[in-house]
Amino acid sequence: MTKYVYDFSQGNKDMKDLLGGKGANLAEMTNMGLPVPPGFTITTEACLAYLEHGDHPTGLLDEVEEHLTRLERAMQKTLGEADDPLLVSVRSGAKFSMPGMMDTVLNLGLNDESVKGLARQSGDDLRFAHDAYRRFVQMFAKIVMEVPGDLFEHALDSAKQAKFEGAQDTDLDADDLRMLLEEFRAIYKKHVGSDFPQDPREQLRLAIEAVFRSWNGKRARDYRRQNKISDDLGTAVNIVAMVFGNRGDDSGTGVAFTRDPATGEKVPYGDYLPNAQGEDVVAGIRNTLPLADLARIDPVSYGELLQVMSTLERHYRDMCDIEFTIEKGRLWILQTRVGKRTAFAEWIMAYDMLEEGLISEDEALLRVDANRLEELFKRVISTEAAAQAKPIANGLNASPGAASGKVVFTADDAEAWARRGERVILVRRETTPDDYHGMIVSQGILTSAGGTNSHAAVVARGEGIPAVCGADQVKIDLRRKAFSADGTPVAEGDVITIDGFSGAVYVGELPLEESVLEKAREGDPVAGEAPIWKAFERLMRRADEVRRLRVRANADTPEQASNARERGAEGIGLCRTEHMFLGEERVEAVRRMIFAETPEEEQAAYDVLLPLQREDFVGIFRAMSGLPVTVRLLDPPLHEFLPNQVALAVEVALGRERGEDLEEQERLLRKVNELHEANPMLGLRGVRLGIVKPGLYAMQVRAIVEAAAQVKAEGGDPKVEIMIPLVATREELRQMLEELRPVAVRELDEAGQTLDHLEWGTMIELPRAAVTAGEIAEVADFFSFGTNDLTQTAFGFSRDDIGKFVGMYEERKLVPANPFVTVDRPGVGRLMQIASDEGRAANPSIHLGICGEHGGDPASVMFCHEIGLDYVSCSPFRVETARLAAGQVAVGTAEVTSR
Ligand code: PEP
Ligand code: MG
Repeated sequence: MTKYVYDFSQGNKDMKDLLGGKGANLAEMTNMGLPVPPGFTITTEACLAYLEHGDHPTGLLDEVEEHLTRLERAMQKTLGEADDPLLVSVRSGAKFSMPGMMDTVLNLGLNDESVKGLARQSGDDLRFAHDAYRRFVQMFAKIVMEVPGDLFEHALDSAKQAKFEGAQDTDLDADDLRMLLEEFRAIYKKHVGSDFPQDPREQLRLAIEAVFRSWNGKRARDYRRQNKISDDLGTAVNIVAMVFGNRGDDSGTGVAFTRDPATGEKVPYGDYLPNAQGEDVVAGIRNTLPLADLARIDPVSYGELLQVMSTLERHYRDMCDIEFTIEKGRLWILQTRVGKRTAFAEWIMAYDMLEEGLISEDEALLRVDANRLEELFKRVISTEAAAQAKPIANGLNASPGAASGKVVFTADDAEAWARRGERVILVRRETTPDDYHGMIVSQGILTSAGGTNSHAAVVARGEGIPAVCGADQVKIDLRRKAFSADGTPVAEGDVITIDGFSGAVYVGELPLEESVLEKAREGDPVAGEAPIWKAFERLMRRADEVRRLRVRANADTPEQASNARERGAEGIGLCRTEHMFLGEERVEAVRRMIFAETPEEEQAAYDVLLPLQREDFVGIFRAMSGLPVTVRLLDPPLHEFLPNQVALAVEVALGRERGEDLEEQERLLRKVNELHEANPMLGLRGVRLGIVKPGLYAMQVRAIVEAAAQVKAEGGDPKVEIMIPLVATREELRQMLEELRPVAVRELDEAGQTLDHLEWGTMIELPRAAVTAGEIAEVADFFSFGTNDLTQTAFGFSRDDIGKFVGMYEERKLVPANPFVTVDRPGVGRLMQIASDEGRAANPSIHLGICGEHGGDPASVMFCHEIGLDYVSCSPFRVETARLAAGQVAVGTAEVTSR
C-alpha cells in the first residue's frame, strides 16, 4: 500500500517531490538535531489523489490518525483535550515555494473546552488563550469554510477602535477578545449555517482537505503560471505541534536570512516581531523590528539563532531563509529553505560563495538566473535628481529598481490601466495574494504597512518589480482613491516615482539613469570597482569559457552593431535591411521603384538607392570588422513602403468632396490597391519579391559587396553572409543565388578586391523549408532559423495578433508558454531539429544559427545548444543573457524556473 504520511524523522531534503519543500526541509533539520517542533507530513501524492477523486485515498485517514497518536504520545498531550491540549498547525508546502499562495491553519485543536486548558496551561493567561482561539476561528472560517475574511478584519478593527483611538491588537485584553470571539462565532454561524466545529479530529480532517484544495485556488494557479511551475505537482500538508510566539514579551516570531537577500552581503538579515504569531510578519499587520534588535531583546536566543543560521548555510551550501519562533525564551525553527533573493544578490552571493570556497565555479555559474540578468541593468533614479528631490515618504527598500508611473489603488485597476498601455504604480496598505494579478503588471509597488518579508515585498522581489514597503507616512483613503504623505495629496492617476533601492517615494516623474553594471560596462571607473561588476565579469568569463554556442546579435545600424559588440556579440546574425528603404530621402526613390513601368525607370530608382545602402553597410562592416555579418535581403511586402490603404482612401475621398486636385494621391491609391493583399504575411514578400523584382536583390548585393570591398580597402576585415528570406523550396534559393552570385563576382572584379568570407544562405522560417532542408542545404552555406515566422506558420498563429489570446492559451494550458517567446519544442523545435539534422547530413560544412526573438530567451538558447546549432542571434540588450544561458547549458542543467 502507498505510504501517504511521513514523520519528520523519516524524510530528508531530497524528498521535495513527495514531501514538498517545507516538509523535506523540516525532516532534514529534524535529522540534523535542530530545534524543530515535532510533526509529520502528508505527501503530495495524497493531495493529487484527493484532488482527482474528491475524496481521501484509502488508508490516508488511518495513517494520519496513527501519526497523530504518535505525536500526542511524544508531546504527552491530546488534541482538543480539556486540561492540557495539543494544538497543531496545518501547513501547505509544495515542491517549489509559493509564498502565501496556498493555505495554512494555525492553533487547530481549540474548542470551547480546550481553550480553558490552554489558558490554564499558560499560567491562567486568558488573554493568550482567547486570542489563540479567535485566530483559529478566523483562519478556519476563512480558509476551510470560505467565509469572507474582511468580516473578521472589520470586527477586529471595530474592537480596537472601541478600545481607544489607535489601539493595536496587543491592546485588547482577555474580555475584549472573548467578546470578539463571540462575534467571530456568530459570523461563522451566519455564513456556514452551523456552529463552529468542536471535534478536533473533524477540524483536522476539514483543514487537511482545505489545504489540498488550495493547490487549485486562483492565487496558486496564477502564481504557477507566472513562475512556470507545473500544475501537476500537488501540495504536501505538514501537521506540526504548535509553538507560540505570542506568549508575552519573552516570545516572538521572525524571519531570518543567512545573507542579505536584497544586497547579497554576508550579514544576517531579517525581521523580528515580539509577542506575535508568524502570520503577523507576512501579513504586515504591525511593522517589524530589524533582526539585529533581537540581540538586545533576547541575546541568548539570538546567539542560538546565529548558530543555526551558520549550520544551515554550510549544510545547504547556499543562503537559507528561516522562519523561527521564540516561545518564552526557547527558540524553535519552523521552516528553512534556500532563500529567494534579488537578481543583484544572486550574483553577489554566487561570487562570494565561490571565493569562500563553499561552491565550485560551475555551481556558481548555475546559481544565477539568466532570465533575471536584464534586471541588473535596470535604471536607478539619477543621483542629481535624487539629491535635489525631496521624498514625500520613506519606506523599506523591498525590491530594487526605480520606477515611475500613475498611481492606482486596486489590483483590478492596475490590470485595467496596464491593459490600455498605462504605466502604473500600485499603492496599497499591504497586498494579499489576491492582488497578485495587479502586482505583476505594475511598474512598481508601494505599500504603507509591512516589512521586507511582507507579501508585497516577497512577490515584488520574485517578479523583479521595484517596490517600497512599509512607508507608514503614506495615508491611503481607498474610498476617495487618493493618498497623502507629508502633507502632499496624491490622487489616482498622479505620477509618482519610487526607488526600490533606497525606499524613497517622490511625487512626479524623476529622471532615471543607468545601473552600476551599465556604467561599469561603459568604462566608469567607480562602477568598475563595484562588487556586482566583479561578480558579473567573473561568472560571465566562466560562461564564455565553457559555452559551445556562439552569440551574435540582431542589429540593423552601426550604432546597434557597436552596442552589441560591446556586450560581447560575436557577429551579427541578422541585419534586416528594411529600414534602409525608409527615411525621407529614400521614400521617393522607393516609390519610383514601385511605380516603375519600364526596366529603365526601375533601374534609375535603384541607382539612387544603391549609394545610400552602400553607406549603411560600410558603417556596419566597420563596426563589426573581423566578425561575421549576416545581411538579409529585403523581406517585407512592398505596400509597407506606401501609405496606409484606409487612411489614403479617406484622404482622397475627403479631398474630392472639397474639390481638390488629387492626381498624385489618386495614383498612389491605385497602386496601394493594386498591391493590397488579403494575407500580406503570406504574400509577395521575401524571396518571392526577389524573384518578381530581380533588380532589387541585385542592387542590394551590389551595395553589400561594394561596401565590403571599400572596408577591406581601408584595412578592415569584413565577413559577409548574404541571406535570402522566406524560402520554401530548393529551387527558389538555387535560382535566386544563380542570379546573385555573378553580381557579387562582377562587383569584386571591378573593385579589384577579394573577400575571404562571402557566404550565401537562407532563413528557415517556413515548415516546408524545414522538412526539405536536406535539399535546400545542397545549395546553401548556412541556415538561420527565423523562429518568429516559423512559429507563425507552424501554428498558424498571427505573430501580430496573438497577444489577444495567448494569455488565455497559457492559462488553460493549451500551450506551455507563449510560443513566440520560448521555442515550442515538440512542434517548432521538432521542425528545427529535422532541418538541422537533414541540413547537416546533406552538407556537413553548413553552419546553423537562429535569429528569431527566441535567440535571447534562456530556455530556447538551451534548446539550440541541445540540437547542435552553431550560434544564436538576439537583440543587443539580450546578448549577455544568451551568453550566460549558453554557458549554463554547457555545464549542466540550469535552473530555468526561478527559485
Ligand atoms: C523570423 O521570422 O524569425 C525573423 C527573424 O524574421 P522577421 O522577424 O524579420 O520576420
Ligand atoms: Mg521572418
